[in-house]
Amino acid sequence: MKPKRVLSEFRNEPLTDFSKPENRKAMQEAIERVRSELGKEYPLIINGEKVWLEEKFQSINPANKSQVVGIFSDADSDAENLVEKAIESATEAFKSWQWVEPEERAEYLFKAAQILRERKHYFSAWMIFEVGKTWTEADADTAEAIDFLEFYGREMIRWAEPQPLVPSPLPEKNELEYIPLGVGAIIPPWNFPLAIMCGMTTSAVVTGNTVVLKPSPDAPTIAYKFMEVLEEIGLPKGVVNFLAGSGTKVGEILVAHPKIRFISFTGSKAVGLKIYEEAAKTRPGQKWMKRVIAEMGGKDAIIVCDDANLDEAAVGIVQSAFGFQGQKCSACSRLIVDEKVYDALLEKVINLTKQLKIGDPTDPETQMTAVINQKAFDKAISMIQKGVEEGGKIVLGGKGDNSKGFYVEPTIITDVKPGTTVEQVEIFAPVLAVIKVKNYDEALEVANDTEYGLTGSVYSTSQEKLDRAKREFHVGNLYLNRKCTGALVGVHPFGGFNMSGTDSKAGGREYLLHFMQAKSIAQKI
Ligand code: NAD
Repeated sequence: MKPKRVLSEFRNEPLTDFSKPENRKAMQEAIERVRSELGKEYPLIINGEKVWLEEKFQSINPANKSQVVGIFSDADSDAENLVEKAIESATEAFKSWQWVEPEERAEYLFKAAQILRERKHYFSAWMIFEVGKTWTEADADTAEAIDFLEFYGREMIRWAEPQPLVPSPLPEKNELEYIPLGVGAIIPPWNFPLAIMCGMTTSAVVTGNTVVLKPSPDAPTIAYKFMEVLEEIGLPKGVVNFLAGSGTKVGEILVAHPKIRFISFTGSKAVGLKIYEEAAKTRPGQKWMKRVIAEMGGKDAIIVCDDANLDEAAVGIVQSAFGFQGQKCSACSRLIVDEKVYDALLEKVINLTKQLKIGDPTDPETQMTAVINQKAFDKAISMIQKGVEEGGKIVLGGKGDNSKGFYVEPTIITDVKPGTTVEQVEIFAPVLAVIKVKNYDEALEVANDTEYGLTGSVYSTSQEKLDRAKREFHVGNLYLNRKCTGALVGVHPFGGFNMSGTDSKAGGREYLLHFMQAKSIAQKI
């Protein structure tokens, strides 16, 4: 037997310090390289073969909408047939991939991590162009992708070890093994186009499954760049098949297919619920109940108590609400403030927000840029109007400009009443609803009065209040005296309650179990 590789303990990938001239230069060069590669055509990948189609769709730069990032063969044009072929390819590949030793499967992930690490800025630069990430947001996305690869690789090795069982009273040898499920559909969102897409795909693969990956039509290029990495590391053909197309066509056909054993989805509540329902129907020829891992939206709140450090709170709020234009499932979209500190806090939040530099994401100084597409722009603007109609007051921002890209001003709406639309519906844009409350009891009540339960944060200097939040604030990821975004793999396993999804806790020690089933084996001795 070949000797086991000694692995270092998992640690998060460090973020790049862009104040250092050499790092700035390296990123600038990566941006120029990617700029020179924009507008290329990309195929689908089925069983390792490149499939070019007549019909295409384009992915564009949201901050500069006339700039085409990538042109993709559109799987929608022959969806039934292509889904069938991709599933056939994955089914065939599963026959051998399921038997590849877990350590060997993990090794593929470590190799992919190494490539991402070596070409970090290149991958980040693609996100700058394709989804409007600023330098630091893109860098964090790439670092998180590396973390997922390193973490899930190690986790697979851990789950492959002998599992603890109670000694049998009978003369027998007992074992419990985790085995893969089969062929899965991987349906990621566009907002963490490298990290989430990579984490969802490789967690399924390292556990011995094979998959069909349908990237978001808003971020197919970065997913294709990751497919190139998988090819480079020599991942066997058919283990990951790539179908670029829409959710409503390719996505729906994939979800409904009887040969799909599980669906790993991250995205909006509406789509997640639809997938959950469709996956529950048994189709002719189907031999299993499909498993659904669905991580969905949020309406995340930060509570600021009367005894909070307001300067620290203001910084955390602005980062959580406006980082990546509010387009994180963890973003703070509700600010719940004790009336005793309401005016003082608001002034600080407004002042800090005014200082945000809005512009093109290729500029290293830019802190906020455009939202992802016209639909997101329209939704943000109509929600801001709705907020005003329902009695809110715009104290900052409120307008948009989509002449060059889909720019929405960082917007703060005060006097928002609990239960109104902007207080309940996920907007997924730089729009912060501010709610004034009388005391901490009311703050917790308002915070929990949502169908979601993803992230939340409380700022207070009272340990008693923080302890109460631990018990009473019903969210999957609770943060105390810090921002509610920026979960780290392994450190803050991520996933929400209620309509925020199945609480799969991505980047946590139990995550890989979603992609495996346990087999208990007893042999008489
Ligand atoms: P979305 O739901 O519009 O799309 C997600 C994916 O589903 C895309 O690949 C899309 O093409 C596909 N899809 C759309 N309709 C489908 C259908 N009928 N059948 C099958 N697939 C379909 O979400 P989005 O705009 O890409 O992402 C933003 C959403 O994702 C927000 O709600 C955000 O909160 C959520 N999100 C959640 C997490 C989390 O961990 N909980 C993380 C990131 C994003």
